[in-house]
Amino acid sequence: MKTGEIAELQKQHLMPTYAPSLALVEGSGTSVWDAEGNEYLDFVSGIAVTNIGHCHPRMVKAVQDQAETLVHVSNLYYNDRQPLLAKALAEHSGLPGAKCFFCNSGAEANEGLIKLARLWGSEKGKYEIITMRQSFHGRTLATLTATGQEKIQTGFGPLPEGFSYANFNELQSVEDAITPKTAAVLVEALQGEGGVIPAEPEFLLGLRKLCDEKGILLLCDEVQCGMGRTGKWFGFQNYDVQPDAFSLAKGLGNGFPIGAIVSGSMLSDVFQPGHHATTFGGSPLACAVALSVIEVIDEEELLANTMMMGACFVEGLCEIAMKHKKWISGVRGLGLLLGVVLDVPAAALQKKLQEKGMLALATAGNILRLLPPLNVSQEEIDQALKLIAEACEELHDEMAAQSPNPCQCGMGE
Ligand SMILES: *Cc1c(COP(=O)(O)O)cnc(C)c1O
Repeated sequence: MKTGEIAELQKQHLMPTYAPSLALVEGSGTSVWDAEGNEYLDFVSGIAVTNIGHCHPRMVKAVQDQAETLVHVSNLYYNDRQPLLAKALAEHSGLPGAKCFFCNSGAEANEGLIKLARLWGSEKGKYEIITMRQSFHGRTLATLTATGQEKIQTGFGPLPEGFSYANFNELQSVEDAITPKTAAVLVEALQGEGGVIPAEPEFLLGLRKLCDEKGILLLCDEVQCGMGRTGKWFGFQNYDVQPDAFSLAKGLGNGFPIGAIVSGSMLSDVFQPGHHATTFGGSPLACAVALSVIEVIDEEELLANTMMMGACFVEGLCEIAMKHKKWISGVRGLGLLLGVVLDVPAAALQKKLQEKGMLALATAGNILRLLPPLNVSQEEIDQALKLIAEACEELHDEMAAQSPNPCQCGMGE
C-alpha cells in the first residue's frame, strides 16, 4: 500500500485522534522508511520509546524466543521473567528496598502511582496530589487531571477531585499548595511535553527536603526521561535526590508496551492482594523484552554514549543557534532529550526537516524536540546537524523574504 491508500483507509476506519503526515513501514537502528521507500533519520524514536533503535537484534531475538516459549499466563501464576525484570530495575534505581508493579503504559503507571499515594495516605486523611503546570502525566481521567494543562482537560469534566497545581522550578509555589490533606508531590525531573525543561537542582533538592519535613511523598514521573534518556538510568539520578516512587513506560520496552511503578521501602508493601491489578501487566513476553533492553543499555554502555553524543549534539546545535540568534534563543535538555528553543513556531522547521529526510518533534509551540536513540552514532549526529543547519538557512531566507525584519516576520505565536 502507498501512503495515500493507507491515509484513506485510516480516515474511514479510525477515530481522527491523530493527524499523521507520513506512513512508516520499516525501521532499522536510527533509520525508518516510508511506504514509498524514502529513508528518514529518526530523531523522534517513537517519542522517546525506541531508545536502543529500531529492531535491535537483541530485542528481536528476545521477542522471538519468548513468543515461542510463553506469551501470557496472567498474574494468577508466577512467571520467571517478571521478578528478574523487577530486580534489575530496583538495582538500577538505587532506591533502598525497591519493589515494582508492572502495567502497560505511562498513564497506567501514573494512575497506579496516584492510587498508591492515596492508599498510603488514606489512614492519615491525606489524598491531595500536587502536580506542576505544563506537566504531562497521561490521558486517563486521573492522569489528565494530574496533567497541569487546561487544553488536555477541556471537555472531560467533571474531573476527579484532589489535585492541585504549582509552578515547575518554583519551590515556594509548591509550598503554598500544601494543605494538611496533601499526600504527594508528583514531578518530572525534566518536563518533556512541557517543552524540554530540566528541573533546577535547588528545586528537586528543595522538594525532597520539603516533602520530608511535611511528611509528604515525592513521586517522579520518569515515563519520558527514564531508561537512560538523560544519560543516567533515571532522570532524578542527575540530581542528588531519591523519590519515594517513580513511574516508567516509554523506553522500558523499546516499543513493546510495558509500564512500571518502582517504589522505595516506604511504599513497597502498601499495595496488598486485591488493591491493584492489570491483566496484561508483567507478562513473560513484555518482561523478556524489557530485560533485553536493559541488557543492551548496560552491555553497549549506552549511558556513556548518551552523555557523549548529547554533549556533541548540543555543541553543534549551539553553533547553529549562534548563527540565527534572531529567532533561535537557545538549546536545553539533558543527555539525548534535547530542545532547541525558537522564537517562531517549531512546526515550520520540523516540516522542513522532514522534507530533507529527518524526523524531529515540535513541542509546546516553539520547541524543536530531538530524541535520537541512545546508540546514535557520531556520523548520524553530524548528519542531523547538517540537515538542521540547512533547514535553518532556508527558513531564515524565507522569513527574510516575507519581512525585512526576520524577528517580526509574523511567524510568532
Ligand atoms: C508520554 C508520557 C506519559 C503518558 O504515557 P502513555 O504511555 O502515553 O500513557 C506520562 N508521562 C510522561 C512524562 C510522558 O512523557
